[in-house]
Amino acid sequence: MHIYKQLFRAFGPQHWWPAKTPEEVMFGAILAQNTSWKNVEQAILALKEAGLLSFRRIMSVATEELARLIRPARFMNLKAKALQNFATYFYQRYRCSITRMRLQQTELLRHELLGLYRIGPETADSILLYALEKPVFVIDVYTKRIMSRHGYLSMAHSYEEFQSLFMQNLPADVHLYNEYHALLVRLGNQLCKPRPLCEACPLKDIQR
Ligand code: SF4
Repeated sequence: MHIYKQLFRAFGPQHWWPAKTPEEVMFGAILAQNTSWKNVEQAILALKEAGLLSFRRIMSVATEELARLIRPARFMNLKAKALQNFATYFYQRYRCSITRMRLQQTELLRHELLGLYRIGPETADSILLYALEKPVFVIDVYTKRIMSRHGYLSMAHSYEEFQSLFMQNLPADVHLYNEYHALLVRLGNQLCKPRPLCEACPLKDIQR
């Protein structure tokens, strides 16, 4: 909580996730793998303009057509397949209803998501937290780097070990998890880079 407070004091609220609807968050989480957010935004805009920012609708579109639209997000063929695979699951299990999906138990949802094509822990947890408002802490490479540099764990530790570090030391609070992850991304982007800018960092006085 001390780290969180320092970051919030320095950066303020981050207003995540940058999307208009929970469904858009899901699209963004799948498209965001291995690319920049700027590229994801272009792909989302193209889907919107084509009237295809909808899992129900992309089920009946040719995969090649979907891939063409999401080209800016890179790995277009793989991601088009991942989006359609998710769409089929979302329809078959929840009739494409966010409300129905939210009623499902978190552990079961996580298990289902991790069984889908190209959905790893970071993508699954981003969907759980930012689209479904489940109290699950999202870990990314910035978080691992920051916490390793401060000696809590090392980069060799697993996703689950980093996640436990946060979830065992914080209250299970969706708003807190939302803001905390966004703040860590901001810190990693801006200051805790491969060559860290510690002098300007709000965490510079936290033991390393
Ligand atoms: S920039 Fe330096 S002080 Fe800031 S989080 Fe990274 S290692 Fe810590």
